[in-house]
Amino acid sequence: MRAPAIVALSHSHGHELLASAVRTVLAKIRHEITSGLLDSQGLDLALSGLSAAVEGELRRATTHSLRAVINATGVILHTNLGRAPLSQAAIDHIRETATRYSNLEFDLAAGVRGKRDVHVDRLFRQVLSAEKTSTIVVNNNAAAVLLALNTLAEGGEVIVSRGELVEIGGSFRIPDVMAKSGAILREIGTTNRTRIADYEKAITERTRLLLRVHRSNFEISGFTEQAALDELVDLARQRGIPLMEDLGSGALIDLRSLGIERESSVIESLAAGVDIVTYSGDKMLGGPQAGILSGRPDLIARMRSNSLFRALRVDKLTYAALEATLLAYLKGEHNAVPTLRMMRYTKEEIGLREQAVAAKIGNSRIKTELIDGDSLLGGGAAPSSVLPTRLLSLSCEGFSADELAAQLRRSDPPIIVRIDEGRVLLDLRTVFPDQDAAIAYALNRIA
Ligand SMILES: *Cc1c(COP(=O)(O)O)cnc(C)c1O
Repeated sequence: MRAPAIVALSHSHGHELLASAVRTVLAKIRHEITSGLLDSQGLDLALSGLSAAVEGELRRATTHSLRAVINATGVILHTNLGRAPLSQAAIDHIRETATRYSNLEFDLAAGVRGKRDVHVDRLFRQVLSAEKTSTIVVNNNAAAVLLALNTLAEGGEVIVSRGELVEIGGSFRIPDVMAKSGAILREIGTTNRTRIADYEKAITERTRLLLRVHRSNFEISGFTEQAALDELVDLARQRGIPLMEDLGSGALIDLRSLGIERESSVIESLAAGVDIVTYSGDKMLGGPQAGILSGRPDLIARMRSNSLFRALRVDKLTYAALEATLLAYLKGEHNAVPTLRMMRYTKEEIGLREQAVAAKIGNSRIKTELIDGDSLLGGGAAPSSVLPTRLLSLSCEGFSADELAAQLRRSDPPIIVRIDEGRVLLDLRTVFPDQDAAIAYALNRIA
């Protein structure tokens, strides 16, 4: 601690942090000595490099663990990579409202306590073109499903098709959430086929809810049957039982314009007569992590007064980001929402950028090739919901595909790629254009 080089570091980092770094470095050298990894020459080397090692340890200890990465996988809503990147407008609104006081729960007109959910309820009504719906927001869609089941069906039965008892990543399982909510799962039909008659037969005086769940990350094909949404709506109306749909991804625009056929939007479900729709804020909507419940005002009001809602509520940062994202939809500024922008790039646009990156690689050890492929929507969209893209296929002399991918992950910023059949594949659909140069730079450095 008294060595001049170490004392110098104490000015910038303080005693505690420095002492801890010194202990870590010394412990490592002791371990190397006792396990015979260091001969006397190695020990001399380690001791002469002490201050550099302490400096390195300090750097490791004081950098953020959560950091920005370049997503070159082509999976737009990549759950492991933070799902939807936020729009500039969302960040600006967060900065403006979160670094000062705000009217989060204050009614400016009346000068009295207000409700935090008013900030987005009005916008959802406009974006969903559904005047007669209310919307509340909780921490994520798993929480939204829990809140809805607990409010509408605690102690009663919820009817779900066996083909829809899904598990989403991160151990969200419909039967488990159902059990936690206090509702009783009433499974009907079979894995591949469930008809409207199955729902009808299962309804008793204990039935509180009909639940339809978007299959999200898997598909069933072949000899299959699923009750149509219209049939479910009719049955629910006839029997006076609410119908809830867990849409998961929950697009707010018609994705057919992008060539994606199988993702129904929140607007379609509400228009069809579904009473409650639940969906994520950071999937197809392209906003912050949140779970959104839209639907019949009387049912939403019951959820709002459930004490679980207080426990699952979101903070002002989320409201700010959500409000700004919804305003972009309202103004038709879809390109301002990064995930929607990414969905709209054409294969040709992406190919041109990849050509430009390839042209910047000035080392013959790296071989590049442009091939056709698919970008994935991800985030609980059907696996067959893909967008045609161009891929930059890479190989580097002296490195396997796994080694090259590991080198790219170690770059600053880290670059995450796809590996397919022994090749490293880059899809620039999910790379922000201002990150292209960093990819070329990293490849040249690795080569
Ligand atoms: C993603 C998803 C969820 C979970 O949503 P989170 O926002 O990740 O909590 C629940 N249901 C379905 C159908 C989903 O696709």
